[in-house]
Amino acid sequence: MINIYKDAGISDEVFSFGEKILESLKGRFEEIDKNAEYNQCKVILAMQKNRLSPEHFMTSTGYGYNDEGRDNLERIYADTFHTEAALVRPQITCGTHALNVALSANLRPGDELLSPVGKPYDTLEEVIGIRPSTGSLAEYGVTYRQVDLLEGDKFDFEGIKNAINEKTKLVTIQRSKGYQTRKTFSVEEIGTLIKFIKEIKPDVVCMVDNCYGEFVERIEPSDVGADMIVGSLIKNPGGGLASIGGYICGTEECIEKCAYRLTSPGLGREVGANLGIMQSLYQGFFLAPTVVAGALKGAIFAANIYEKLGFKVVPNGTESRHDIIQAVELKSREGLIAFCKGIQAAAPVDSYVDPEPGDMPGYDSQVIMAAGAFVQGSSIELSADGPVREPYAAYFQGGLTWFHAKHGILMSVQKMYEQNLIEL
Ligand SMILES: *Cc1c(COP(=O)(O)O)cnc(C)c1O
Repeated sequence: MINIYKDAGISDEVFSFGEKILESLKGRFEEIDKNAEYNQCKVILAMQKNRLSPEHFMTSTGYGYNDEGRDNLERIYADTFHTEAALVRPQITCGTHALNVALSANLRPGDELLSPVGKPYDTLEEVIGIRPSTGSLAEYGVTYRQVDLLEGDKFDFEGIKNAINEKTKLVTIQRSKGYQTRKTFSVEEIGTLIKFIKEIKPDVVCMVDNCYGEFVERIEPSDVGADMIVGSLIKNPGGGLASIGGYICGTEECIEKCAYRLTSPGLGREVGANLGIMQSLYQGFFLAPTVVAGALKGAIFAANIYEKLGFKVVPNGTESRHDIIQAVELKSREGLIAFCKGIQAAAPVDSYVDPEPGDMPGYDSQVIMAAGAFVQGSSIELSADGPVREPYAAYFQGGLTWFHAKHGILMSVQKMYEQNLIEL
């Protein structure tokens, strides 16, 4: 083993250091595998119940009328996540688009949107109109209210109660921390929040941004009262095989509104050709529980390695996990760059490319990104990025296999080691 890693440019010292850390993680990896096993059963049962067959992989074009392949995938998503209905389509271009459809379909002028968990994901600021933007909800007369988290990332129940009013129509809850410093919420915590909100106003629609959270636990927010859960197919549920797409799963009423918004009033779910990608969407969903397990192992391995090397990691090495994102604070510009170069060098695609910090629209500092993905921008594949400023945090996620995630992390350590940024 040590020889093949040597061929890959990973030294004996780095490899052995990694193996020692791994010894201590056996119990946790077992627990992750158990969850994957459970979730694999969920997906298989949904596929069997809906009598998935090769006909469902057939291509449809044009309007896509009577596309059984498309419709059956939506039933399988709905059954897996225990919702009445689902919208799962290549016409949903990304996670932000799915969230925008879910929000704009279920809000009307004069309604108010509430985020009880602080500031939402960056791209949603423009969807909502927190930052003025063409076509935002604010332009359509939808107002927005936000209740920040309290010390220790606790829900501000009193503040939330006071914020809910006669205009409050929809509540948006982001499960993953995304690129913030708060913690990621467990599904159970989200359930407590939804229950509290529904007690105050039973008819309010509760939507959960489920990005990066799918299959990390045995239950999803739709199991604890969410009316809609929303995510991207080039993250967890696409299993790395989906080349495009997003999903919204939820109540029949919410999903119907989403369909009329996504296509057109009057048309709804009836149109939307699949263009021949159905097999990859089904097969990706089938693989997703084990792919997510691999990514989780990578995140935990990275946390424990870098914690041992003296860096701050969020979540820390022993905390429970509710999404697949790992932040590592590398303390210096050189450290962040070396880390990203390692991830890049370990990639199956574009491994020869040397990532450099660059300017990005919307960021006030330079950003460095490492990704060598089969699907552009896919962050279920091993990838890392971070703004080049204090505390020089790399946000790291994905890995289609645990062994690739391990390879990437060892390579990042190798690059740091070669530059004398760490001692083993
Ligand atoms: C990735 C992500 C989004 C947006 O998804 P895109 O596919 O990048 O548009 C929204 N919310 C969260 C929490 C995310 O992680």
